Amino acid sequence: MSPPLVVVFLSSWVSGASAADLLLVGGRVWTGGTSVEYADIWLEGGQIRAVGLPGSLTPPASRVRVDVTGATVVPGLVDAHVHLSMNPGAAWREDSAEDRAALLDHHLRALLASGVTTVLDPAVTVSALAEMRPRIAAGPSPRYLHLGPPFSPPGGYVATAVPGFPTVADHAGVRDQVWQVAAMGGVGVKVTVEDGMYRPVWPLFSPERLREIRDAAALAGLPVYAHAMSPREQALAIEVLGASVLVHPLDRPDSEAVERVRAAGAWQMTTLSPHYALASAWGRLGVPPLDDPWYQERVPELERTTARDPRVQADFRTGLVSLLLPRFPGIPAIAASALPGRMIVRALHRQEAALRQLAAAGVPLVMGSDSGNWPMITSLFHGTSSIDELERLVHAGLDPITVLRAATVTPGEMLGLPIGKIEAGYRADLVVVDGDPTQGISALRRLRLVVREGVARAPSAWLSE
Ligand SMILES: [Zn+2]
Repeated sequence: MSPPLVVVFLSSWVSGASAADLLLVGGRVWTGGTSVEYADIWLEGGQIRAVGLPGSLTPPASRVRVDVTGATVVPGLVDAHVHLSMNPGAAWREDSAEDRAALLDHHLRALLASGVTTVLDPAVTVSALAEMRPRIAAGPSPRYLHLGPPFSPPGGYVATAVPGFPTVADHAGVRDQVWQVAAMGGVGVKVTVEDGMYRPVWPLFSPERLREIRDAAALAGLPVYAHAMSPREQALAIEVLGASVLVHPLDRPDSEAVERVRAAGAWQMTTLSPHYALASAWGRLGVPPLDDPWYQERVPELERTTARDPRVQADFRTGLVSLLLPRFPGIPAIAASALPGRMIVRALHRQEAALRQLAAAGVPLVMGSDSGNWPMITSLFHGTSSIDELERLVHAGLDPITVLRAATVTPGEMLGLPIGKIEAGYRADLVVVDGDPTQGISALRRLRLVVREGVARAPSAWLSE
């Protein structure tokens, strides 16, 4: 005998602050495997209690039944590369502390309203974390994980491109920063192995320093995440630094480099979106349609205004070229030409090819949008970039199930957390979408409900909470 059906009208499913015990019935479910099946899902105490054939689960009658007929339920999305302490376009504004607080609150809600229930922030300072922590704790917020401040040598890529982060100069600095990351609750350390995107312009850590970081991180039980994109940088990152995660794709398809990643058992983040954002400043690859309601609701007005400002885009073009080609003659002329746009698009196509080769070789891909990076970029918006990234991965030639796994099962395994699958014992993080994202990834833009630790809301309700 099944309990009486309490039909909850989805549009009104917005009240109640705590996790209800829910029974989702009538929908199809992609648990994280290879196919979509009709199934019911029982959520209890913020966890998935059981998944079963339709009508097979008989929880106590007091459970609230939610009819999700016509929808597909998938695990809540994980974006493993979100710079939550950085606000798109902030370099062009003077955001007050109140602005920053309001933007953070908006970003947290925009992520949830985009189906993202967990984020990994690969670069946050002690002071930025202290500023953000109370607001994240107050919620609503996706689950927030971070890697603390990145490890970068003096005068290196981070120090030059994103001032405000510490640098590591010697062995004592290595030890101090590893313990700092551990004390901040970081889930790994991030190390930059970056000597320049188009030509070598920045110093790298010495192999000795890389080994010191590897050993100190191992002692603290922290996995190493590496920013390393060329085959030479990746060889250092994998063979000397012992990195287990590469936070950006290889910037050229190279079978030896692909084999190195595969043989090391490393995880590969995707991050195609930054190249879209860079190219858009030269009118290539399109810009996010800011008037589309999906973007209008999720992107704060302040950031939309910056992204629309043609003077900002002109200054950005010059700023980017002078960063990547310092002391190069004729920077304004290069910035004003079509050349940088063409180079960025070619780099994107090389990264797409590399991701296809890595996927074919069986390297686990992890979705990362790189939203918020870096404050000079105006269009890497929090929340919307995660869905853009998934569509870009399908556009790059990956099949939708591989792409969905990159945003669910695979990051769950990488982080060692019970997230990213619809299975008993996993956290009750779910996304309920109209249509079937395993067939067409853009179904993720038709969200009925986003469930975070058992709290179910329509996207509009998350945004207005
Ligand atoms: Zn990044």
